[in-house]
Amino acid sequence: MNFDLTTEQQMILRTIREFSDAEVAPGAEKRDKEKAFPIEVFKKLADLGMMGLPFSEEYGGAGADTVSFAIVTEELSRACGSTGITYSAHISLGGAPINLFGTEEQKQKYLTPICTGESFGAFGLTEPNAGSDAGGTQTEAKTDGNDFVINGNKCYITNASYANHLALTAITGRDGQQKEISAIIVPTDADGFKVIDNYEKMGLHASNTTELVLEDVRVPQENLLGKRGEGFKQFLVTLDGGRIGIGAMAVGIAQAAYEKALAYAKERKQFGKSLSHFQAIQFKLADMAMKIELARTMVYKAAWLKDQGRPFTKEASMCKLYASEICMEVTNQAVQIHGGYGYMREYHVERFMRDAKLLEIGEGTSEVQRMVIARTIGC
Ligand SMILES: Cc1cc2nc3c(=O)[nH]c(=O)nc-3n(C[C@H](O)[C@H](O)[C@H](O)COP(=O)(O)OP(=O)(O)OC[C@H]3O[C@@H](n4cnc5c(N)ncnc54)[C@H](O)[C@@H]3O)c2cc1C
Repeated sequence: MNFDLTTEQQMILRTIREFSDAEVAPGAEKRDKEKAFPIEVFKKLADLGMMGLPFSEEYGGAGADTVSFAIVTEELSRACGSTGITYSAHISLGGAPINLFGTEEQKQKYLTPICTGESFGAFGLTEPNAGSDAGGTQTEAKTDGNDFVINGNKCYITNASYANHLALTAITGRDGQQKEISAIIVPTDADGFKVIDNYEKMGLHASNTTELVLEDVRVPQENLLGKRGEGFKQFLVTLDGGRIGIGAMAVGIAQAAYEKALAYAKERKQFGKSLSHFQAIQFKLADMAMKIELARTMVYKAAWLKDQGRPFTKEASMCKLYASEICMEVTNQAVQIHGGYGYMREYHVERFMRDAKLLEIGEGTSEVQRMVIARTIGC
């Protein structure tokens, strides 16, 4: 048993922490207020070689491991939740399925621009009538000669306005009541493809969340990702990896909230003493520190299992569930410790709390995680 990060992981942590403090955190509040996508941050992340971090150098990636991906996602999210979700989705929802299931040609064509940062990565699964029950997909891809002709709608898709292409799920055939669901790579500039960026969200305002409308979108059948009919299995595997990203985001946002609350508790005086002298406040901070430590350990463990090529579905679900729930608790307590000031935008903690809520919903709600865990423990 060794809890130390490797030399490479430590170097990545140092680099991304310095970068996040200097380049990401300072503009986070303004970007949130103005709903401004952090494009400049991502140009710099591309220069640092972070956009293809866990993918092979052959495709322009950095060949790093999943623990390193978790470290980068945590640090970016500590500085700015919107930057964190953009990065996490780019890698684990955009790049990962192409890396896992793509042919050599598809990887050259579609993974390389993701690794270099030329395109953002995105993944279209959710539909207005297919959320937790993602198998309820209604988007349909009909075969026409050598092409698929796709019709349907996707909702809440991260990064699509900044993606040149994305993988999405669609019904490619039926056997009685049984649907054949496949994943297909679709260029976002295809005729009949509309990406609508119009949601009014609770938080993560600087991230890009979109609706996709596909009307007779024609793509060659060679854009099929993986085997025909395996789209459902593929997205389950993709989401396992994505959940490590959401867990890491939750640890980062919780850490940011805890750091602000601790600093504020030391500085703010009431009844002639700093808040940090009151045991009620000390206990809140102690619980926050303990829960963040545990959540981070769970995220690292799931990432490590993935890096060893071992099963990690249960651990990915557990880390996502635990980290997102404690992130909500920690950010709530951080607002509480700030009192009325915490309710004001200027003190940042209310943003952390708004951003945290998505983590209990995206990539499988808390209820869905409990269902996954129950299945893995034999219920
Ligand atoms: C900001 C944002 C970004 C997102 N990014 C992406 C993306 O990039 N790609 C993508 O494909 N999707 C994305 N999503 C969609 C997200 O994954 C879904 O919102 C999520 O899976 C839940 O689906 P739903 O919203 O349809 O809720 P529903 O499935 O309708 O669930 C509503 C409630 O019912 C509960 N529920 C549902 N079924 C059960 C059950 N069997 N037992 C108990 N409780 C149940 C849920 O847990 C939840 O509390 C994003 C969403 C948001 C808000």
